[in-house]
Amino acid sequence: MKNRSYSQFGPGTRALHVDREMDPGSGVAPAIQQSVTHFAESGEEFSLKASEPLNDQFYARHGNPTASRLAKILADLEGAEAAMIMASGMGAIATTVLALVGQRDHVIGQTSHYIGTTNLLTQVLPKFGVEVTQVDQTDAEAFRRAIRPETKLIIVETPVNPTMRLTDLTAVAEIARQAGVLTLCDNTVATPLITRPIDIGIDLVAHSATKYIGGHHDLLAGAICGPKALLDRIWDMTMNLGAISAPFNAWLALRGIRTLGLRMGQHSRNGMAIAEYLSSHPKIARVNYPGLRCHPQHDLAQRQMNGFGGLLSYEVVGGYEGGRRFIQALQLPFNAGSLGGVDSLVIQPAAMWGGRLPDEVVQSQGVGPGLIRMAAGIEETADLLADLAQALDHI
Ligand SMILES: *Cc1c(COP(=O)(O)O)cnc(C)c1O
Repeated sequence: MKNRSYSQFGPGTRALHVDREMDPGSGVAPAIQQSVTHFAESGEEFSLKASEPLNDQFYARHGNPTASRLAKILADLEGAEAAMIMASGMGAIATTVLALVGQRDHVIGQTSHYIGTTNLLTQVLPKFGVEVTQVDQTDAEAFRRAIRPETKLIIVETPVNPTMRLTDLTAVAEIARQAGVLTLCDNTVATPLITRPIDIGIDLVAHSATKYIGGHHDLLAGAICGPKALLDRIWDMTMNLGAISAPFNAWLALRGIRTLGLRMGQHSRNGMAIAEYLSSHPKIARVNYPGLRCHPQHDLAQRQMNGFGGLLSYEVVGGYEGGRRFIQALQLPFNAGSLGGVDSLVIQPAAMWGGRLPDEVVQSQGVGPGLIRMAAGIEETADLLADLAQALDHI
């Protein structure tokens, strides 16, 4: 089969085509390969396959052909040498971190992360003798100050929800390079359509493919993208931890990623329109969205982001009760956790996280009682704006 090049095409086109030579048994749509094990002609062939990283023709914990197609697209979109599809975003992040650090190593993370990553940094790594320093992501120099001789890894995430604070990836990549420290960026919220951390100098990119990559709230998957040499080390750890993707979930995500370009355009249009509408609304005290000029890091957002995405947060007047009434009056967005799918979702973090996080953390992360986190879906913009307007009347 001829090997075409797709590098001259845009990402929305490449997401449809870069994997098409990979599985000659497929039609125009990919086949789903559910077989857990594959047969070989000889024992020698087997032992070769067993030891080859990401071999998708041996046993399904090593890799599977359906996931390989998704990995090829994601690696291409992220500008990475290789990618591996995992069972979940946390499966990807935890496996990566455990593969790269050990006892007496030091890791630098942010004070705000996705809750699972925060738990990994504050609860899991200390159990294994790994020291962690968390720094304010909006202060790039804080990463430099935190570096020690034992520092092995810097973990960043931008934008981070619900505060929508950003990390300056160019600055962090440069600081890490000078110190010989690896960098890992959780690119779930931006997606490669908006930010390509590896182009900027970040070593590894992690995704919860459960979110925008899958895009339809119907699968759990993750991914790690980066240089082949690092992916081989992470693959070795996958052999022990087993957080590899299920073929059917990879197949659903493969279907989802075909429309990533289209969907991100509409998510960004809706995010921007909602942020602009709410920022002049009398019942809204504050809007956090990197696309607004009033965002404290708007300049960085313009440099680092191509469109500003569908995630935002805003503080309604009337505190906790105001937020509760607002959510109940909304007709279109579901009151549900998660983000990145076609349907708009809202949550009131104070209700979800208030019980789990200490008060000072809730406050330092900018989570006020009336804060609403909204993941704008791909509904028609005018319909979402009208729904927000009528719900705000209920406060
Ligand atoms: C959801 C999410 C994760 C975790 O992904 P799962 O697929 O749920 O394990 C990690 N990072 C970010 C930014 C997320 O939104």
